[in-house]
Amino acid sequence: MIKLFEIIKSQMNSDRDLEEKIFASILNLGIIVVGISAVVTFFENIGMFATITILLAALMFAITMVIYYGFHQTILARRMLCFLINCFLIPVIFFTCGGIDSGMPLYMMAGLFMIIPVLDGRDRVVCFVTSLIVDVCVIFLSYCMMDDGPELLRIHSDILVKLSLGARVSDVIISLVLMSTFMCLTLAIVLKAYRTERKGREDLLRKLEMLSKKDELTGLYNRRELFWHLETMKTFFGKRYFIAMFDIDHFKMINDTFGHLFGDVALKEIAKKMSDFCDRQEDEIAARFGGEEFVIFFKAMDDKEAFRKIDKLRKEIGQMQWEEHPGLSITISAGVSFCAHGKPLEETLGEADKQLYAAKRSGRNKVCMEKRTQ
Ligand code: GH3
Ligand code: MG
Ligand code: MG
Repeated sequence: MIKLFEIIKSQMNSDRDLEEKIFASILNLGIIVVGISAVVTFFENIGMFATITILLAALMFAITMVIYYGFHQTILARRMLCFLINCFLIPVIFFTCGGIDSGMPLYMMAGLFMIIPVLDGRDRVVCFVTSLIVDVCVIFLSYCMMDDGPELLRIHSDILVKLSLGARVSDVIISLVLMSTFMCLTLAIVLKAYRTERKGREDLLRKLEMLSKKDELTGLYNRRELFWHLETMKTFFGKRYFIAMFDIDHFKMINDTFGHLFGDVALKEIAKKMSDFCDRQEDEIAARFGGEEFVIFFKAMDDKEAFRKIDKLRKEIGQMQWEEHPGLSITISAGVSFCAHGKPLEETLGEADKQLYAAKRSGRNKVCMEKRTQ
């Protein structure tokens, strides 16, 4: 029992959606209530109909729990619970245990109210309307079945108006329809407002996360995210990972000649090439390191393959066609270093930078690679 309470408590404290929590609590509390009722029914010996009803309810909740917790069929479990409670359990309990003079109209209202947070969209409307029709029919049927209604107002006075049973039945039906519709509509509006707010918050968080990780112009990861990624990948250093640092050749001149707007377009297109180069499955990433400087963290079998891959990328960038300026070739220089195990990140990046500088000095549009004994 204590364990059960702990499970329920942990579910309620989890970061699941509000709707999910409401559904889980209805299910969990439902099975507890039904379980207690079954024990009481057994000892009180209320009658065959009541016992059958309570056993059916227990079976219904148990099946729903298996579908929800065992098979993780959330939607099916939600539909089952709402339809079974409203269209089956409540009518059966009405006829076997209570009738119109019991608290059944209140249970009916609670059953209808439960539909709103548990179901959504068309399911919600269909279940609500069907359940309401069933409830009205049940009340009306119970009225038709009575031969002789009980005396409604036992205090006889001149002020109190004695109601007929028919008047009372229609009153119950009208209050049920009006009150449940009003309450359910109010809850639906509150839930919708909550969902809109939650979606807005999630969108904003996603946007903020993206802004904090990515460079706005190129869409590549920014410097901070690059360092974070390299830090997390440190344990894999020494297992064929390399760093390539790039710098566009004579970019200042490109800006001065063709304008900064074209410069931005060139940066975006080159960044896209770099992004396409990376295999995210292998944890490779491309980042904008500075203005027109980029870094690619990538995998290769050995130094030779690392050089071949980056040199191929360099050639492809040099061969890119620029719609606005046909015949223009924008070239790039690169320096490559090996991510050795235990070597500080700054040193690995510094080595790539050194090689990039060497590529620039030796005429640009080149790749220089760290020499090491393998
Ligand atoms: P080098 O071959 O030696 O690298 O020459 P360079 O002209 O590329 O070198 P430098 O570092 O002097 O120039 C970099 C230029 O990149 C200067 C700056 O205006 C330009 N730049 C940096 N960020 C951006 C940007 O976001 N958009 C545009 N259009 N230009 C940028
Ligand atoms: Mg530069
Ligand atoms: Mg440059």
